[in-house]
Amino acid sequence: MDIAGITKIIPADLERGEHIDLETLESIVETLDEHDLPTVARESLKTFRPIVDGDLAYLRVTDITRVEYDGHLYDLQVGGEPVFTANWMYAHNSMDAPLVMSSRIDPSEIDDEAHNMDIVREYPLEFYEATREMADPSSVADLVQISEDTLGTDDEYRGFDHTHDVTDIAMGPDLSAYKTLGSMMDKMDAQLELGRKLRAVDETDVAERVIEYHFLPDLIGNLRAFARQDTRCLDCGKKYRRAPLTGECRECGGNVSLTVHRGSVNKYLDTAVEVADRFDCRPYTKQRLEVLEKALESIFEDDTNKQSGIADFM
Ligand SMILES: [Zn+2]
Repeated sequence: MDIAGITKIIPADLERGEHIDLETLESIVETLDEHDLPTVARESLKTFRPIVDGDLAYLRVTDITRVEYDGHLYDLQVGGEPVFTANWMYAHNSMDAPLVMSSRIDPSEIDDEAHNMDIVREYPLEFYEATREMADPSSVADLVQISEDTLGTDDEYRGFDHTHDVTDIAMGPDLSAYKTLGSMMDKMDAQLELGRKLRAVDETDVAERVIEYHFLPDLIGNLRAFARQDTRCLDCGKKYRRAPLTGECRECGGNVSLTVHRGSVNKYLDTAVEVADRFDCRPYTKQRLEVLEKALESIFEDDTNKQSGIADFM
C-alpha cells in the first residue's frame, strides 16, 4: 500500500528478522501516527497502541540454562488474569492448557460412548425371548431405553435407572484389565478368550476387527510418522527437518538422533500376524499384514549388506 511520505513500509530491523525493542516500536508507531494513513493501516495501528502505551514490556532473553528435572512443576502467579506471551505470540504455561472448559455439562456434548448406556429398571420379556433366537442387536434396540434416547429432552439429566442395585456408585473395578495385563498379546488373549466363552460372539470376527481397526491403522500410521519424522539433538534439543550429514548438531556438536524409532513402528506386527494366524482370519487380512511386513522390511533392513549367491542372479 502507498502512504504519502512513507518510502519504506517494512522497518530495517524487521527486514533483518530481528526482534525490535519497545523504543523502536514506539517511534515507528509515533511516525505512522503523524501520517495520513489508509483506513486499514489506521486500524492495525490501533492494535499496536496497547503495547506501546501499556505497561507490558518485552525483555530479551539473555541466558538459557537447561536442567534435568523429573517431578512436579509449578507456575507462580500474582493475581489477575494470567497471560503468557513470547515473541509476540500467546503461549501457555508449564502444563497442557485445556482448550475448552465447560462450566455446565451438556449431555449431548460428552463422549458418545456414554450415550449407549441403558437406563432402564429391567429388560422386557421380549428382549430375553429375542436372545434365544439369536436376534441381531439392532432389531431389539427399541426394547431397551438408552441415555441417547433422552438427549435434548427434560429427561436428559434425570430418571436414569439401573438393573442391579449397588451400595456404592464407585464399586466397579479401580483398574481395568487393560492396565493389569502386561503385553499386547496378553491383552488380545484375554479379549479373545472372553469371546470364545460368549455364545453371541464370533471370536474370528473379533480378531479381524482388532486387526483391521486397531493394529493396521497403528502400524500404517507409525510407518508414516517414521518417514516424516524430525531429527533432534540429544544434547540441546534442536530439531532438524533432516539430520545434518555429519550426524552432529550444528548448534552444539551433540548427537542428532531420530525422534521415531523402529521399535515404536513395528511393535504390534508380530502380535497381529500371530492373531491372524491363530484365529484363521481371512486371506485378505493376512495379505494386508504381509504387504505391511514387506514395507517395514524395505525400510528397516539394509539390503546393501545382504549376502547374495550367484544363484540369486540366475
Ligand atoms: Zn545440539
